[in-house]
Amino acid sequence: MQTLWMDMTAGIQAEDMEKAGQILKDGGLVAFPTETVYGLGGNGLDAGAAQKIYAAKGRPSDNPLIIHIAQWEDLVPITSHIPEKAKVLADAFWPGPLTMILPKSDLVPMETTGGLNTVAVRMPGHKAALELIRAGGGYIAAPSANTSGRPSPTTAAHVREDLDGKIDAIIDGGEVGIGLESTIVDLTEEVPVILRPGYISAQMLSEVIGEVRMDRAFVSADPSIRPKAPGMKYRHYAPKAQLQIVEGPEEKVVETINELAANAAAQGQLVGIIATDATKERYENAIIRSAGDRTDDITIAAHLYGLLREFDELGVSEIYSEALDTPRLGQAIMNRLIKAAGHRILQV
Ligand code: AMP
Ligand code: MG
Repeated sequence: MQTLWMDMTAGIQAEDMEKAGQILKDGGLVAFPTETVYGLGGNGLDAGAAQKIYAAKGRPSDNPLIIHIAQWEDLVPITSHIPEKAKVLADAFWPGPLTMILPKSDLVPMETTGGLNTVAVRMPGHKAALELIRAGGGYIAAPSANTSGRPSPTTAAHVREDLDGKIDAIIDGGEVGIGLESTIVDLTEEVPVILRPGYISAQMLSEVIGEVRMDRAFVSADPSIRPKAPGMKYRHYAPKAQLQIVEGPEEKVVETINELAANAAAQGQLVGIIATDATKERYENAIIRSAGDRTDDITIAAHLYGLLREFDELGVSEIYSEALDTPRLGQAIMNRLIKAAGHRILQV
């Protein structure tokens, strides 16, 4: 399959946008930018499109897709009940990086929801995404536009690396703003539950709807507790290299990573180090990249997946990373980093 490249880095191209919308209406797949990461879109009400998405990504079909909408009213036909708290959250955070789990209506095929009776819905805060949703009929099912198990794409070039020849079109909208997937909150329970941490923090949510809980699977150290979002159970966001996180006081972390890097290099391995601005000059024997200033959550979040992909491209086989438990987005960032590391964390 020939994948069309639609350059919209300088602005939305109306003709291409119309063409992309038609591809979606005809059951095809279009990758597109959002404010979180690039999405791989197909018609959310078409079971066949959902199956194509799973096939292109190599994604297990029990891992449900998020349906993207462009206006609040479009929520009504795809849900069987909209709790008051969903309205309050939409008022506060839509369009934006928040996904809500709601009871689904019969309009949504089981293929889209991975067999669940609930549906995940988001209204993205990105102009090209909103236009594509409208052009494509109003409901776009879209997971991240990466091969399943690889880091989520934050540029259109990342999408091409994974999906060229497997999908109908890629809309290039430049680099994304946030770089981490949306916060997922389950509104089917009495007290809403965060199933995946993201840019919208628990505190931001509870400021508008009161009490919220964290899914037990990621507050507990017990790996046998199953997360409620099916996708959260997979080793996700992973680079090809082995990644290990080193956590502790700065001095100790730098010393330990340097030792590990020296050992690995002595065995002929190509080593990558994820440092921060304050420490990057103090490492050696490796390819060193700073994720950003430790107090600047936004930059670190935006860089993380790109760094993991860059190390893949350079052929790195061992990556050592500082723990990136930054002030506000630390939980969301560490959630991704820990998964990328397959839970290999060294406390020093
Ligand atoms: P992605 O689109 O790649 O960011 O993945 C979507 C995430 O949303 C996955 O972790 C899914 O398991 C989760 N998700 C989608 N629909 C539901 C649902 N109905 N209930 C719980 N989790 C969901
Ligand atoms: Mg994903």
